[in-house]
Amino acid sequence: MPEIVDVVVVGGGIMGVCLAYELARRTLRVALLEAYALGSGTTGSGFAWLNATSKTESSEPYFRLNAEALRRYETLVLEHKAESLGIHSGGTLYWARNSEAQQVATLRRRAERLQVLGYPYTTVNAHEMEILEPSVRFRRVPNENVEGLYAPADKWVEPLRLIRFLAHYARNHNAAIKEYCPIESFHTDMQGRVSMVRAGGVEYATRSVVLAAGLQTPALIRLLTSNPQSLQSVPIKQIPGVLVDTAPQSAEGQMRRVLYPPDSGGLHFRPTASGGLLVGADDTDTIAHGESLDTKRLNEIGKSLLVRVSDWLPQLSLLETVKGMSAYLCMRPVPQDDHPIVGALPGVKGVYVAVTHSGLTLAPLLAHLLAEEIMLKQIPPQLADYRPDRFLQMPHSSRGLSMIKSSH
Ligand SMILES: Cc1cc2nc3c(=O)[nH]c(=O)nc-3n(C[C@H](O)[C@H](O)[C@H](O)COP(=O)(O)OP(=O)(O)OC[C@H]3O[C@@H](n4cnc5c(N)ncnc54)[C@H](O)[C@@H]3O)c2cc1C
Repeated sequence: MPEIVDVVVVGGGIMGVCLAYELARRTLRVALLEAYALGSGTTGSGFAWLNATSKTESSEPYFRLNAEALRRYETLVLEHKAESLGIHSGGTLYWARNSEAQQVATLRRRAERLQVLGYPYTTVNAHEMEILEPSVRFRRVPNENVEGLYAPADKWVEPLRLIRFLAHYARNHNAAIKEYCPIESFHTDMQGRVSMVRAGGVEYATRSVVLAAGLQTPALIRLLTSNPQSLQSVPIKQIPGVLVDTAPQSAEGQMRRVLYPPDSGGLHFRPTASGGLLVGADDTDTIAHGESLDTKRLNEIGKSLLVRVSDWLPQLSLLETVKGMSAYLCMRPVPQDDHPIVGALPGVKGVYVAVTHSGLTLAPLLAHLLAEEIMLKQIPPQLADYRPDRFLQMPHSSRGLSMIKSSH
């Protein structure tokens, strides 16, 4: 006998788990099916910075979506406590050297945009930055002029802790969360509506399926249907990134927030839950885009990132830190126009998709909105710009031309 559920969610990353949480708390019967362990896709390996500040140059609606997503996190924190969720407040600190006109212009432009968009920030001087992060060397030479921008609403998160907490909550609200359970097949009825999903030898009878399988979402659509409209409406790019994390640092070297120093290659770093550092940079991501990286090359890149970080962290023992580091490559699922793809899949009734970049930031909000849509059969206004069918309206020649502008 098949198990009867209201909604099958495919994928146990941040997007799928947030959906299971949102649907289960609305008392729908949910089965979440994950091919491996929860968080084993992109979710477990990203930088996990929750922010709107890196989106000041994006469209205003997309910036506002990210700002609203940060407020959604505040609601989660009020309901469940930051510590249980693995959410770390502390904000983001950007700074620039006054001798570098370009850096200062970029910093001030970001501040202007944040002001216009109404996102909390404050400008800070060297002394104020030293109070915020005593272990950081903000000036390369004594009395160098620097200026900073502090955005207190940004955060970072421990992704696995977050999704385990939300999955546990969903289980307690009768959701079936199945790991190591890859999808075997989908079935549709005579009216072209999804009716059954088979996974791990079990059949789930359902009238609604959400595909939240990150990079694998297009492959699942191919398993579901050969309808060209369905296939065209979820175009995904794979954008690689390299991150390096380190063993715990000494207590006096610990920081609290995400830091963006004046580095022309977009270096950024933050603390980890175990007291180490997590480091990435836009320029090394570009290298990963152009080369195939073996372990030796990844370790070279990891070491180069730590050398750059050591400019700003005088306490860091480079030799020790490099010994304990782990450098790795991970892939972002990025919709072709860089914006979320959330909503009904054209061509098969009852199927929805939810794929996005910046998923750690956006998933709790997107899942909340999509759960409302599934319950009420009405598209929330915030999702209107992000429907899958927008790709069917684009002239063929303009599909696939946009490049990712922000790595987060
Ligand atoms: C280097 C890097 C840095 C990043 N930095 C940030 C950041 O700072 N802030 C931010 O917000 N975002 C960041 N991101 C992006 C963010 O990590 C992703 O947007 C997010 O994790 C995507 O989550 P997801 O649930 O959609 O996909 P995934 O986490 O990939 O989850 C999809 C799941 O579906 C499962 N699946 C696939 N096929 C099947 C199948 N057939 N059956 C069952 N299950 C299946 C997979 O196993 C996987 O677990 C970063 C990403 C990278 C790579």
